[in-house]
Amino acid sequence: MSEKKDFLRAIVEADLKAGRVKEVVTRFPPEPNGFPHIGHAKSIVLNFGVARDYGGRCHLRMDDTNPETEEMCYVEAIKDAVKWLGFDWGEHFYFTSDYFERLYGYAVQLIKMGKAYVDSLNEEEIRKYRGTVTEPGRRSVYAKRSVEENLDLFERMRKGEFPEGAHVLRARIDMASPNMKMRDPLLYRIRHTPHYRTGKAWHIYPMYDFAHCLSDYIEGVTHSFCTLEFENNREVYDWILDTLQVEPPRPHQYEFARLNITYTVMSKRKLLELVKGGYVDGWDDPRMPTIAGYRRRGYTPESIVNFCEMIGVAKANSVVDVAQLEFAIRDDLNQKVPRVMCVLDPLKVTIVNYEGAEELDASYYPPDVAKEGSRKLPFSREIYIDREDFSENPPKGYYRLTPDQPVRLKHAYIIACEEVVKNEAGNIVEIKARYFPNSKSGSDTSGIKVKSAIQWVDAARGRRAEIRLYDRLFRVENPQGVEDLNPDSLRIVKNAVVEPAVIEEMPDERFQFERIGYFYADPVDYSDEAPVFNRIVSLKDSWAKKSKKPETPKAAKEVPQRKPETSKKEEMPPLTPEQQTRFERFTKELGLGGAVADTLARDETLSEFFEKALTFGENPATIANLVANEVARELKNKTPEALPFGPEQVARLAKMVDDETISTKIAKQVFEAMAKSGENPEAIVEAKGLVQISDPAVIGPIIDKVIADNPENVAKYREGNKKLLGFFVGQALKATGGKANPKVVNELVAKKLEA
Ligand code: ATP
Ligand code: MG
Repeated sequence: MSEKKDFLRAIVEADLKAGRVKEVVTRFPPEPNGFPHIGHAKSIVLNFGVARDYGGRCHLRMDDTNPETEEMCYVEAIKDAVKWLGFDWGEHFYFTSDYFERLYGYAVQLIKMGKAYVDSLNEEEIRKYRGTVTEPGRRSVYAKRSVEENLDLFERMRKGEFPEGAHVLRARIDMASPNMKMRDPLLYRIRHTPHYRTGKAWHIYPMYDFAHCLSDYIEGVTHSFCTLEFENNREVYDWILDTLQVEPPRPHQYEFARLNITYTVMSKRKLLELVKGGYVDGWDDPRMPTIAGYRRRGYTPESIVNFCEMIGVAKANSVVDVAQLEFAIRDDLNQKVPRVMCVLDPLKVTIVNYEGAEELDASYYPPDVAKEGSRKLPFSREIYIDREDFSENPPKGYYRLTPDQPVRLKHAYIIACEEVVKNEAGNIVEIKARYFPNSKSGSDTSGIKVKSAIQWVDAARGRRAEIRLYDRLFRVENPQGVEDLNPDSLRIVKNAVVEPAVIEEMPDERFQFERIGYFYADPVDYSDEAPVFNRIVSLKDSWAKKSKKPETPKAAKEVPQRKPETSKKEEMPPLTPEQQTRFERFTKELGLGGAVADTLARDETLSEFFEKALTFGENPATIANLVANEVARELKNKTPEALPFGPEQVARLAKMVDDETISTKIAKQVFEAMAKSGENPEAIVEAKGLVQISDPAVIGPIIDKVIADNPENVAKYREGNKKLLGFFVGQALKATGGKANPKVVNELVAKKLEA
């Protein structure tokens, strides 16, 4: 079970405890009109997850009431997706279309009760009669039809005697209801299109509001979870079940926030457009946010389930950063897959002082991955390295091979450049290099210092492969449609070279190609003769620096985020295994934000300081902020021992912030004093009179003065320039030397300005 209980699980638990339900029954009810996407994954994980957690069951139901868009191939795609994610509906696989006859019976019952009538207004009139949010609607003249007439018309609608749009069946509820959905909602409409399962048997089809609650009831569903857009439909859901006086127990609807992800479109209609328009290569194109797409790309089901659990279930809509999904897959693969070598853009290196050939032992896994296995790496006089890993005129900070700088060949020897061979056009076609026989990885006695290790592949034994470098399908955060497609979402590299074990041993289907990313043998196009690998995800988030990172949207739960890289600095290297372990402890166990966690995790001294401070304090977030910012600055040129304060004082300072004795702003000031004098933070606050002022009786008069001093701005504010609120708050804070509690000031200023 996910660590924290969400509000839906809380409801389920309460119902079980109170005996309102004996067995929890949920359902996942997709419409088979497209391939399921990652939003559906959230719903699958929720519905099947709740059933699993409470020993109940979850039904898989095709909500197939619209003959125009539904197809059997989508039914199969949905089943595949649910199974692949690891869930099992057992024998509970259903179709709403199997209930058509029973639903018809319920409709007849409503008509007989005088609770439903056949309306013959056209679509336009129906809309007009419905009124608006501020005005009540009017009931159609046809609502006066007798029960007999309604029964007769409804039966003839079913038989197909009328054209589409001639009549509809509506519930008789309340045309003046403040809830627009309750203004005599439509229950049935005429459609002559054959249905993919029932063929031409029906000429009327139930609307969602009518079919859904009753299907839930028929199946004995107890908890019907749907997305927030259906909040107002709940009243209809209840009205139908209550009016029909169905035998208890009856299901109840609960709403949760749908999943939205940046750089992604998530409606089947828009996805269909991409497929139909040929913008992607089908529903399972590895760039599609469909479950089939992620699967073909190489995502693991675990990573998607983890992601869904990580973002949690909330009551308010939000947009999740796609980086979180990418984090989930990296996080999963990092612990699982073999590390191998691939050269995307081969540049031949001839090692002039090497004769013969040998096979080097190389582990598939780094020491922090709890898996064993190794392969032989053939090595000989001719190898390939990546063109990018040699530079004739290296920029500053270039750590790889140059005419003057040796480099290590990962798992092998150190080489140095002897000669750069160019063709007539002046392009480099080969490097002649020298190797150092005593520099072999694991038994290096050469004493040669290198700044990095690069990947390489033996020229004779390496295997050619096609590499598909997938990237985000859209180039903007909030894409609307095809106009926002990323032109570089797929780059195909035809002539990459991979080490032979990848193909000849295939220790796994997924790999980390060292320094490049995670890759997956394409399940459709791969063969040993013509290998094709898909990039699942790069090793680090290359988008964080491209786009100025927006504030992380408030996701349901704060989720680990790598620190956004600033544009000025060189790219941050990926975290080492130890740093990664720390990063995970900070984000997952302590709930720190990604940026702070990253800063701390990368620095062992800071991490240690932080951990010590934690033993004296309670709130990791406040302590972490102080350590990552203030303490880090002090430690730039000093060792921890040389500081006049220790972790305990920092924890105490944090505590004063947490209990609102001082504001965060004042905390910085106190810290500076503490860093100079080594005095205790409480003493500093006391001596300087820095205690935060939260008393409205003290703050009020200060605000009054600010207001009196700025009549022009007051007038502007009252005329509607609400942005000026910040100005007044700022002035008031300034007048108290930053000691006033900003929350209190905010509230008071707003109140006084409205007066
Ligand atoms: P779309 O709008 O993408 O076409 P839909 O809601 O029409 O999706 P359905 O097949 O009707 O798709 O949905 C099946 C189930 O999946 C519903 O219970 C729905 O609430 C849920 N669902 C669909 N999209 C999301 C999403 N983005 N986040 C969470 N749940 C979703
Ligand atoms: Mg739908």
